[in-house]
Amino acid sequence: METIQRINHYTAYRPRPFTREERATVTILFGGLTWKHERLIQGVLHNLGYKAQPLPNITRADLDAGKELIDVGACCPTIFTTGNLANFLKSEMAVLGRDEVMKRYVFLTAGACGPCRFGQYHESYTMALDGLGLRDFRLFLLAQNQLDQGATHGGGLEINLPLSLGLIWAILCADVLTDLEYMTRPYEIVPGETDEVLRESIAYLYDVFRNRPPEKLCGGKLKVFAWHVLTDYFTDALREVRKRWDAIRVDRLQVKPKVKITGEFWLQTHEGDGNYNIKRWLEQEGAEVIPPPIAVWLDYLLHSPITSEEWKGAERNRKKIALLRAVEQIYHFVYNRFRKALGNLPYELPDQEELKHLAKPYYHYELRGGEGHMLVGKALYAYRHKKAHMICELSPYSCMPNTMSIGAMANVLGRYPDLLYAPIEVKGDAEVHALSRCQMILTEAKRRAHAEFEEVLAKTGLTVEAIRRYEERHPEVQRSTYRIPHYGYAGTAANYVLHLARKMR
Ligand code: SF4
Repeated sequence: METIQRINHYTAYRPRPFTREERATVTILFGGLTWKHERLIQGVLHNLGYKAQPLPNITRADLDAGKELIDVGACCPTIFTTGNLANFLKSEMAVLGRDEVMKRYVFLTAGACGPCRFGQYHESYTMALDGLGLRDFRLFLLAQNQLDQGATHGGGLEINLPLSLGLIWAILCADVLTDLEYMTRPYEIVPGETDEVLRESIAYLYDVFRNRPPEKLCGGKLKVFAWHVLTDYFTDALREVRKRWDAIRVDRLQVKPKVKITGEFWLQTHEGDGNYNIKRWLEQEGAEVIPPPIAVWLDYLLHSPITSEEWKGAERNRKKIALLRAVEQIYHFVYNRFRKALGNLPYELPDQEELKHLAKPYYHYELRGGEGHMLVGKALYAYRHKKAHMICELSPYSCMPNTMSIGAMANVLGRYPDLLYAPIEVKGDAEVHALSRCQMILTEAKRRAHAEFEEVLAKTGLTVEAIRRYEERHPEVQRSTYRIPHYGYAGTAANYVLHLARKMR
Protein backbone atom coordinates (compact mmCIF):
# COMPACT_ATOMS: atom_id res chain seq x y z
CA MET A 1 0.00 0.00 0.00
CA GLU A 2 1.26 3.43 -0.88
CA THR A 3 2.09 5.60 2.14
CA ILE A 4 1.72 9.35 2.05
CA GLN A 5 4.58 11.22 3.59
CA ARG A 6 3.84 14.52 5.15
CA ILE A 7 6.36 17.20 4.16
CA ASN A 8 7.05 20.03 6.53
CA HIS A 9 8.10 22.86 4.27
CA TYR A 10 10.33 25.62 5.59
CA THR A 11 8.37 28.65 6.71
CA ALA A 12 10.05 31.91 7.52
CA TYR A 13 9.65 33.28 11.02
CA ARG A 14 6.51 35.37 11.40
CA PRO A 15 6.03 37.04 14.78
CA ARG A 16 2.79 36.94 16.72
CA PRO A 17 1.04 40.28 16.44
CA PHE A 18 2.06 43.22 18.59
CA THR A 19 -1.09 45.30 18.79
CA ARG A 20 -1.66 49.01 19.20
CA GLU A 21 -3.47 48.39 22.50
CA GLU A 22 -0.35 46.67 23.84
CA ARG A 23 1.86 49.75 23.35
CA ALA A 24 1.28 50.95 26.89
CA THR A 25 2.35 47.66 28.46
CA VAL A 26 4.88 46.12 26.06
CA THR A 27 8.52 47.23 26.08
CA ILE A 28 10.48 47.32 22.84
CA LEU A 29 13.99 45.98 23.41
CA PHE A 30 16.83 46.99 21.11
CA GLY A 31 20.63 47.12 21.16
CA GLY A 32 23.85 46.68 19.20
CA LEU A 33 25.14 50.28 19.23
CA THR A 34 26.89 52.39 21.88
CA TRP A 35 25.14 53.53 25.08
CA LYS A 36 25.06 57.08 23.63
CA HIS A 37 23.29 56.08 20.43
CA GLU A 38 20.93 53.82 22.32
CA ARG A 39 19.94 56.47 24.86
CA LEU A 40 19.02 58.95 22.11
CA ILE A 41 17.14 56.23 20.21
CA GLN A 42 15.25 55.53 23.41
CA GLY A 43 14.34 59.24 23.46
CA VAL A 44 12.90 58.94 19.94
CA LEU A 45 10.82 55.88 20.87
CA HIS A 46 9.55 57.49 24.09
CA ASN A 47 8.65 60.58 22.11
CA LEU A 48 6.38 58.46 19.92
CA GLY A 49 4.66 56.87 22.88
CA TYR A 50 6.47 53.52 22.95
CA LYS A 51 7.90 51.85 26.00
CA ALA A 52 11.49 51.13 25.02
CA GLN A 53 14.66 49.88 26.65
CA PRO A 54 18.15 49.12 25.33
CA LEU A 55 19.64 45.76 26.22
CA PRO A 56 22.47 45.85 28.78
CA ASN A 57 25.92 46.43 27.30
CA ILE A 58 27.59 43.30 25.92
CA THR A 59 29.75 41.22 28.29
CA ARG A 60 31.87 38.05 28.03
CA ALA A 61 28.96 36.12 29.55
CA ASP A 62 26.94 36.94 26.41
CA LEU A 63 29.58 35.28 24.26
CA ASP A 64 29.33 32.12 26.37
CA ALA A 65 25.52 32.12 26.22
CA GLY A 66 25.55 32.72 22.44
CA LYS A 67 27.99 29.86 21.87
CA GLU A 68 25.70 27.48 23.72
CA LEU A 69 22.56 28.51 21.90
CA ILE A 70 23.38 29.04 18.23
CA ASP A 71 25.35 27.20 15.58
CA VAL A 72 29.09 26.99 16.06
CA GLY A 73 30.01 28.57 12.73
CA ALA A 74 28.27 31.86 13.48
CA CYS A 75 30.31 35.03 13.31
CA CYS A 76 31.43 36.66 16.54
CA PRO A 77 28.97 39.65 16.43
CA THR A 78 26.05 37.24 15.90
CA ILE A 79 27.14 35.16 18.87
CA PHE A 80 27.58 38.20 21.11
CA THR A 81 24.30 39.90 20.20
CA THR A 82 22.24 36.71 20.36
CA GLY A 83 23.77 35.81 23.73
CA ASN A 84 23.03 39.33 24.92
CA LEU A 85 19.32 39.02 24.17
CA ALA A 86 19.19 35.49 25.59
CA ASN A 87 20.87 36.49 28.86
CA PHE A 88 18.56 39.43 29.34
CA LEU A 89 15.45 37.32 28.74
CA LYS A 90 16.77 34.59 31.02
CA SER A 91 17.28 37.06 33.85
CA GLU A 92 13.79 38.50 33.32
CA MET A 93 12.28 35.00 33.25
CA ALA A 94 13.87 34.27 36.62
CA VAL A 95 11.92 37.19 38.07
CA LEU A 96 8.71 37.33 36.03
CA GLY A 97 8.31 33.85 34.61
CA ARG A 98 8.15 32.76 30.97
CA ASP A 99 4.62 33.88 30.11
CA GLU A 100 5.05 37.35 31.49
CA VAL A 101 8.31 37.85 29.52
CA MET A 102 6.53 36.81 26.31
CA LYS A 103 3.77 39.29 27.07
CA ARG A 104 5.89 42.21 28.25
CA TYR A 105 8.68 42.38 25.68
CA VAL A 106 9.29 42.47 21.93
CA PHE A 107 12.69 42.83 20.27
CA LEU A 108 13.44 45.24 17.43
CA THR A 109 16.56 44.75 15.33
CA ALA A 110 17.91 45.83 11.96
CA GLY A 111 17.52 43.42 9.07
CA ALA A 112 19.23 43.13 5.72
CA CYS A 113 19.85 40.80 2.87
CA GLY A 114 23.06 39.97 1.07
CA PRO A 115 25.94 37.59 1.53
CA CYS A 116 26.65 38.27 5.17
CA ARG A 117 25.01 36.71 8.20
CA PHE A 118 23.57 40.04 9.21
CA GLY A 119 20.54 39.16 7.08
CA GLN A 120 20.14 35.97 9.12
CA TYR A 121 20.45 37.42 12.60
CA HIS A 122 16.75 36.78 13.22
CA GLU A 123 17.36 33.07 12.47
CA SER A 124 20.00 32.98 15.18
CA TYR A 125 17.68 34.77 17.55
CA THR A 126 14.86 32.31 16.90
CA MET A 127 17.25 29.39 17.39
CA ALA A 128 18.35 30.85 20.72
CA LEU A 129 14.78 31.60 21.76
CA ASP A 130 13.82 28.02 20.93
CA GLY A 131 16.62 26.88 23.21
CA LEU A 132 15.19 29.02 26.00
CA GLY A 133 11.64 27.76 25.47
CA LEU A 134 10.58 31.15 24.08
CA ARG A 135 9.69 30.13 20.55
CA ASP A 136 6.80 32.59 20.40
CA PHE A 137 8.76 35.60 21.61
CA ARG A 138 8.20 38.47 19.16
CA LEU A 139 11.05 39.82 16.99
CA PHE A 140 10.62 42.63 14.48
CA LEU A 141 13.00 43.63 11.72
CA LEU A 142 13.73 47.18 10.66
CA ALA A 143 14.89 47.27 7.03
CA GLN A 144 17.86 49.61 6.65
CA ASN A 145 16.89 51.01 3.28
CA GLN A 146 13.24 52.02 3.77
CA LEU A 147 12.14 55.02 5.79
CA ASP A 148 8.46 54.19 5.67
CA GLN A 149 7.68 50.50 6.10
CA GLY A 150 4.20 50.90 7.59
CA ALA A 151 2.90 49.05 10.60
CA THR A 152 4.42 45.78 11.77
CA HIS A 153 2.19 42.72 12.24
CA GLY A 154 -0.57 43.80 14.63
CA GLY A 155 0.01 47.56 14.23
CA GLY A 156 1.79 47.96 17.59
CA LEU A 157 4.87 49.41 15.95
CA GLU A 158 4.70 51.81 13.05
CA ILE A 159 7.89 52.20 11.06
CA ASN A 160 7.05 55.56 9.57
CA LEU A 161 8.86 58.81 8.83
CA PRO A 162 8.70 60.31 12.36
CA LEU A 163 10.28 57.13 13.70
CA SER A 164 12.87 56.55 10.94
CA LEU A 165 14.00 60.19 10.73
CA GLY A 166 14.11 60.38 14.51
CA LEU A 167 16.35 57.30 14.61
CA ILE A 168 18.68 58.66 11.93
CA TRP A 169 18.89 62.11 13.54
CA ALA A 170 19.59 60.49 16.91
CA ILE A 171 22.37 58.39 15.40
CA LEU A 172 23.95 61.43 13.71
CA CYS A 173 23.84 63.48 16.92
CA ALA A 174 25.42 60.62 18.89
CA ASP A 175 28.08 60.30 16.17
CA VAL A 176 29.19 63.92 16.25
CA LEU A 177 29.27 63.86 20.02
CA THR A 178 31.34 60.67 19.96
CA ASP A 179 33.91 62.41 17.75
CA LEU A 180 34.09 65.21 20.28
CA GLU A 181 34.49 62.72 23.11
CA TYR A 182 37.41 60.87 21.50
CA MET A 183 39.29 63.99 20.46
CA THR A 184 38.95 65.50 23.96
CA ARG A 185 39.45 62.71 26.52
CA PRO A 186 43.10 61.89 25.67
CA TYR A 187 44.10 65.53 26.26
CA GLU A 188 41.88 66.47 29.22
CA ILE A 189 43.70 68.16 32.08
CA VAL A 190 41.23 67.09 34.77
CA PRO A 191 40.82 63.30 34.54
CA GLY A 192 37.22 62.17 34.11
CA GLU A 193 35.89 65.57 33.04
CA THR A 194 35.14 64.50 29.47
CA ASP A 195 33.11 61.51 30.56
CA GLU A 196 31.14 63.63 32.99
CA VAL A 197 30.29 66.29 30.39
CA LEU A 198 29.50 63.55 27.89
CA ARG A 199 27.01 61.96 30.30
CA GLU A 200 25.36 65.34 30.90
CA SER A 201 25.23 66.04 27.16
CA ILE A 202 23.58 62.71 26.37
CA ALA A 203 21.06 63.20 29.18
CA TYR A 204 20.23 66.63 27.76
CA LEU A 205 19.96 65.34 24.17
CA TYR A 206 17.74 62.48 25.36
CA ASP A 207 15.26 65.14 26.52
CA VAL A 208 15.60 66.94 23.19
CA PHE A 209 14.58 63.79 21.29
CA ARG A 210 12.02 62.85 23.92
CA ASN A 211 10.35 66.24 23.43
CA ARG A 212 10.28 66.54 19.65
CA PRO A 213 7.22 68.72 19.04
CA PRO A 214 4.30 66.40 18.17
CA GLU A 215 2.74 68.93 15.80
CA LYS A 216 5.86 68.72 13.61
CA LEU A 217 5.57 64.95 13.36
CA CYS A 218 2.13 64.77 11.86
CA GLY A 219 0.82 65.87 8.50
CA GLY A 220 2.26 64.93 5.12
CA LYS A 221 5.53 63.08 4.69
CA LEU A 222 7.10 66.04 2.93
CA LYS A 223 6.26 68.31 5.84
CA VAL A 224 7.78 65.93 8.39
CA PHE A 225 10.88 65.50 6.24
CA ALA A 226 11.31 69.24 5.61
CA TRP A 227 11.00 70.02 9.33
CA HIS A 228 13.75 67.55 10.22
CA VAL A 229 16.08 68.90 7.55
CA LEU A 230 15.52 72.62 8.09
CA THR A 231 14.66 73.08 11.74
CA ASP A 232 17.04 74.68 14.25
CA TYR A 233 15.61 72.44 16.97
CA PHE A 234 18.52 69.95 16.86
CA THR A 235 21.30 72.40 15.95
CA ASP A 236 20.31 74.74 18.80
CA ALA A 237 20.50 71.75 21.15
CA LEU A 238 23.98 70.88 19.87
CA ARG A 239 25.09 74.49 20.32
CA GLU A 240 23.92 74.22 23.91
CA VAL A 241 25.96 71.02 24.25
CA ARG A 242 28.99 72.81 22.86
CA LYS A 243 28.80 75.40 25.64
CA ARG A 244 29.17 72.61 28.18
CA TRP A 245 32.28 71.32 26.38
CA ASP A 246 33.79 74.83 26.37
CA ALA A 247 34.58 74.37 30.05
CA ILE A 248 36.92 71.39 29.47
CA ARG A 249 40.57 72.38 29.30
CA VAL A 250 42.99 70.26 27.31
CA ASP A 251 46.73 69.94 26.88
CA ARG A 252 47.38 69.32 23.20
CA LEU A 253 51.13 69.30 23.63
CA GLN A 254 50.91 65.67 24.71
CA VAL A 255 52.25 63.80 21.70
CA LYS A 256 49.95 60.91 20.84
CA PRO A 257 49.62 58.65 17.83
CA LYS A 258 46.26 58.85 16.08
CA VAL A 259 44.62 55.50 15.50
CA LYS A 260 41.75 55.14 13.10
CA ILE A 261 39.36 52.31 13.88
CA THR A 262 37.91 50.44 10.92
CA GLY A 263 36.47 46.98 10.43
CA GLU A 264 33.17 45.19 10.57
CA PHE A 265 30.21 47.42 11.43
CA TRP A 266 29.23 46.02 14.82
CA LEU A 267 32.78 45.44 16.06
CA GLN A 268 34.03 48.88 15.13
CA THR A 269 30.99 50.66 16.60
CA HIS A 270 30.83 48.70 19.85
CA GLU A 271 32.38 49.98 23.08
CA GLY A 272 32.86 47.13 25.54
CA ASP A 273 33.84 43.50 25.99
CA GLY A 274 32.68 42.61 22.48
CA ASN A 275 35.83 44.16 21.00
CA TYR A 276 38.05 43.90 24.11
CA ASN A 277 37.19 47.51 24.88
CA ILE A 278 39.89 48.35 22.41
CA LYS A 279 39.13 52.03 22.05
CA ARG A 280 39.58 52.67 25.78
CA TRP A 281 42.58 50.37 25.83
CA LEU A 282 44.22 52.36 23.03
CA GLU A 283 43.66 55.57 24.98
CA GLN A 284 45.22 54.01 28.06
CA GLU A 285 48.19 53.05 25.88
CA GLY A 286 48.63 56.72 25.00
CA ALA A 287 46.79 56.98 21.69
CA GLU A 288 44.08 59.26 20.32
CA VAL A 289 41.36 57.21 18.66
CA ILE A 290 39.32 58.22 15.63
CA PRO A 291 36.03 56.40 16.16
CA PRO A 292 34.01 55.17 13.19
CA PRO A 293 30.74 57.09 12.86
CA ILE A 294 27.64 55.12 11.92
CA ALA A 295 26.96 58.07 9.60
CA VAL A 296 29.54 56.69 7.15
CA TRP A 297 27.64 53.41 6.93
CA LEU A 298 24.36 55.27 6.28
CA ASP A 299 26.14 57.30 3.62
CA TYR A 300 27.33 54.07 2.01
CA LEU A 301 23.74 52.78 2.00
CA LEU A 302 22.62 55.97 0.28
CA HIS A 303 25.44 55.95 -2.23
CA SER A 304 25.29 52.28 -3.25
CA PRO A 305 22.04 52.60 -5.28
CA ILE A 306 23.63 55.47 -7.25
CA THR A 307 26.53 53.23 -8.13
CA SER A 308 24.18 50.41 -9.10
CA GLU A 309 22.09 52.67 -11.33
CA GLU A 310 25.22 54.01 -13.03
CA TRP A 311 26.37 50.48 -13.52
CA LYS A 312 23.09 49.64 -15.27
CA GLY A 313 23.33 52.70 -17.53
CA ALA A 314 23.94 56.27 -16.39
CA GLU A 315 22.19 57.86 -19.37
CA ARG A 316 19.08 55.69 -19.18
CA ASN A 317 18.71 56.20 -15.40
CA ARG A 318 19.57 59.88 -15.37
CA LYS A 319 16.47 61.04 -13.48
CA LYS A 320 16.69 58.37 -10.83
CA ILE A 321 20.39 59.06 -10.28
CA ALA A 322 19.70 62.80 -9.94
CA LEU A 323 17.05 62.09 -7.31
CA LEU A 324 19.34 59.75 -5.36
CA ARG A 325 22.14 62.32 -5.49
CA ALA A 326 19.79 64.99 -4.17
CA VAL A 327 18.89 62.78 -1.19
CA GLU A 328 22.59 62.15 -0.57
CA GLN A 329 23.30 65.87 -0.62
CA ILE A 330 20.51 66.57 1.86
CA TYR A 331 22.00 63.93 4.15
CA HIS A 332 25.42 65.62 3.98
CA PHE A 333 23.79 69.00 4.56
CA VAL A 334 22.18 67.73 7.77
CA TYR A 335 25.38 66.09 9.01
CA ASN A 336 27.41 69.21 8.29
CA ARG A 337 24.88 71.38 10.13
CA PHE A 338 25.36 69.16 13.18
CA ARG A 339 29.13 69.41 12.83
CA LYS A 340 28.94 73.17 12.48
CA ALA A 341 26.80 73.45 15.61
CA LEU A 342 29.71 71.79 17.42
CA GLY A 343 32.21 74.25 15.97
CA ASN A 344 33.13 72.00 13.01
CA LEU A 345 35.11 69.86 15.40
CA PRO A 346 33.65 66.46 14.44
CA TYR A 347 35.30 64.92 11.38
CA GLU A 348 33.78 65.43 7.95
CA LEU A 349 32.31 62.42 6.16
CA PRO A 350 34.70 60.90 3.64
CA ASP A 351 33.56 61.29 0.05
CA GLN A 352 31.99 57.97 -0.99
CA GLU A 353 33.18 58.45 -4.57
CA GLU A 354 36.72 58.83 -3.32
CA LEU A 355 36.47 55.73 -1.12
CA LYS A 356 35.21 53.80 -4.12
CA HIS A 357 37.96 55.17 -6.32
CA LEU A 358 40.72 54.41 -3.80
CA ALA A 359 39.49 50.86 -3.23
CA LYS A 360 38.83 50.11 -6.90
CA PRO A 361 42.17 48.49 -7.83
CA TYR A 362 41.78 46.07 -4.89
CA TYR A 363 38.11 45.51 -4.16
CA HIS A 364 35.14 45.82 -6.48
CA TYR A 365 32.51 48.25 -5.21
CA GLU A 366 29.66 45.99 -6.32
CA LEU A 367 30.87 43.29 -3.93
CA ARG A 368 28.45 43.75 -1.04
CA GLY A 369 28.46 42.22 2.40
CA GLY A 370 30.13 43.51 5.52
CA GLU A 371 31.73 46.87 4.89
CA GLY A 372 32.19 46.13 1.19
CA HIS A 373 34.97 48.14 -0.43
CA MET A 374 34.90 50.70 2.39
CA LEU A 375 37.35 48.82 4.56
CA VAL A 376 40.05 49.20 1.91
CA GLY A 377 38.89 52.69 0.92
CA LYS A 378 38.91 54.03 4.48
CA ALA A 379 42.42 52.74 5.20
CA LEU A 380 43.77 54.40 2.05
CA TYR A 381 41.79 57.57 2.71
CA ALA A 382 43.31 57.96 6.19
CA TYR A 383 46.77 57.18 4.84
CA ARG A 384 46.65 59.46 1.79
CA HIS A 385 45.15 62.42 3.67
CA LYS A 386 47.38 61.89 6.71
CA LYS A 387 44.37 61.60 9.01
CA ALA A 388 45.92 58.95 11.26
CA HIS A 389 49.28 57.33 12.02
CA MET A 390 47.83 53.85 12.01
CA ILE A 391 44.73 51.83 11.19
CA CYS A 392 43.36 49.34 13.70
CA GLU A 393 41.02 47.07 11.80
CA LEU A 394 38.64 44.90 13.79
CA SER A 395 37.84 41.62 12.05
CA PRO A 396 35.24 39.29 13.50
CA TYR A 397 36.12 35.67 13.83
CA SER A 398 34.30 33.64 11.16
CA CYS A 399 33.18 36.57 8.99
CA MET A 400 33.18 35.84 5.28
CA PRO A 401 33.07 39.41 3.86
CA ASN A 402 35.77 40.54 6.24
CA THR A 403 38.05 37.67 5.21
CA MET A 404 37.79 38.94 1.63
CA SER A 405 38.65 42.50 2.65
CA ILE A 406 41.68 41.35 4.59
CA GLY A 407 42.87 39.42 1.55
CA ALA A 408 42.56 42.61 -0.49
CA MET A 409 44.43 44.57 2.18
CA ALA A 410 47.43 42.28 1.73
CA ASN A 411 47.65 43.59 -1.81
CA VAL A 412 47.26 47.19 -0.60
CA LEU A 413 50.11 46.76 1.89
CA GLY A 414 52.32 45.38 -0.86
CA ARG A 415 51.77 48.65 -2.71
CA TYR A 416 51.95 50.88 0.39
CA PRO A 417 54.42 49.21 2.79
CA ASP A 418 54.51 52.41 4.81
CA LEU A 419 50.85 52.14 5.81
CA LEU A 420 50.66 51.11 9.46
CA TYR A 421 47.90 48.54 9.63
CA ALA A 422 46.90 46.34 12.55
CA PRO A 423 44.26 43.77 11.59
CA ILE A 424 42.91 42.39 14.86
CA GLU A 425 40.86 39.23 14.77
CA VAL A 426 38.22 39.38 17.48
CA LYS A 427 36.91 36.09 18.84
CA GLY A 428 35.83 37.50 22.15
CA ASP A 429 38.09 35.25 24.22
CA ALA A 430 41.63 35.88 22.92
CA GLU A 431 42.23 39.35 24.28
CA VAL A 432 45.92 39.12 25.16
CA HIS A 433 46.86 37.87 21.72
CA ALA A 434 44.83 40.57 19.93
CA LEU A 435 45.98 43.48 22.07
CA SER A 436 49.66 42.54 22.01
CA ARG A 437 49.49 42.43 18.22
CA CYS A 438 48.01 45.91 18.21
CA GLN A 439 50.66 47.11 20.66
CA MET A 440 53.47 46.16 18.28
CA ILE A 441 52.13 48.42 15.52
CA LEU A 442 51.27 51.12 18.04
CA THR A 443 54.93 51.36 19.07
CA GLU A 444 55.87 52.39 15.54
CA ALA A 445 52.89 54.79 15.38
CA LYS A 446 54.16 56.47 18.56
CA ARG A 447 57.60 56.83 17.06
CA ARG A 448 56.13 58.53 13.99
CA ALA A 449 54.00 60.88 16.10
CA HIS A 450 57.08 62.01 18.04
CA ALA A 451 59.16 62.37 14.87
CA GLU A 452 56.62 64.67 13.21
CA PHE A 453 56.28 66.71 16.41
CA GLU A 454 60.05 67.28 16.53
CA GLU A 455 59.99 68.13 12.84
CA VAL A 456 57.34 70.80 13.36
CA LEU A 457 59.17 72.30 16.35
CA ALA A 458 62.33 72.51 14.25
CA LYS A 459 60.46 73.97 11.29
CA THR A 460 58.71 76.67 13.33
CA GLY A 461 61.60 77.39 15.69
CA LEU A 462 59.18 77.14 18.62
CA THR A 463 59.88 75.50 21.95
CA VAL A 464 57.47 73.84 24.35
CA GLU A 465 58.26 76.58 26.89
CA ALA A 466 57.39 79.35 24.41
CA ILE A 467 54.09 77.62 23.63
CA ARG A 468 53.29 77.29 27.32
CA ARG A 469 53.86 81.02 27.77
CA TYR A 470 51.53 81.73 24.83
CA GLU A 471 48.87 79.45 26.34
CA GLU A 472 49.02 81.41 29.59
CA ARG A 473 48.33 84.62 27.72
CA HIS A 474 45.66 83.06 25.46
CA PRO A 475 43.76 80.49 27.56
CA GLU A 476 41.11 80.09 24.84
CA VAL A 477 43.51 77.84 22.85
CA GLN A 478 43.30 75.28 25.64
CA ARG A 479 39.53 74.94 25.39
CA SER A 480 38.43 71.54 24.14
CA THR A 481 36.18 73.32 21.62
CA TYR A 482 39.01 75.39 20.15
CA ARG A 483 39.41 74.08 16.62
CA ILE A 484 42.87 73.14 15.34
CA PRO A 485 42.95 73.00 11.53
CA HIS A 486 44.57 70.05 9.79
CA TYR A 487 47.89 71.18 8.28
CA GLY A 488 48.80 67.86 6.73
CA TYR A 489 50.22 66.19 9.83
CA ALA A 490 48.43 63.23 11.36
CA GLY A 491 49.10 64.12 14.99
CA THR A 492 47.12 66.67 17.01
CA ALA A 493 50.25 68.01 18.75
CA ALA A 494 52.05 68.69 15.45
CA ASN A 495 49.05 70.52 13.95
CA TYR A 496 48.64 72.47 17.19
CA VAL A 497 52.24 73.75 17.10
CA LEU A 498 51.89 74.77 13.46
CA HIS A 499 48.65 76.55 14.21
CA LEU A 500 50.12 78.50 17.12
CA ALA A 501 53.20 79.36 15.07
CA ARG A 502 50.93 81.00 12.49
CA LYS A 503 49.05 82.89 15.18
CA MET A 504 52.26 84.13 16.79
CA ARG A 505 53.60 85.64 13.59
S1 SF4 B 1 29.73 41.35 8.30
FE1 SF4 B 1 30.62 39.45 9.06
S2 SF4 B 1 30.60 39.66 11.26
FE2 SF4 B 1 29.20 41.17 10.46
S3 SF4 B 1 27.20 40.15 10.52
FE3 SF4 B 1 28.08 39.84 8.47
S4 SF4 B 1 29.12 37.86 8.60
FE4 SF4 B 1 28.75 38.56 10.70
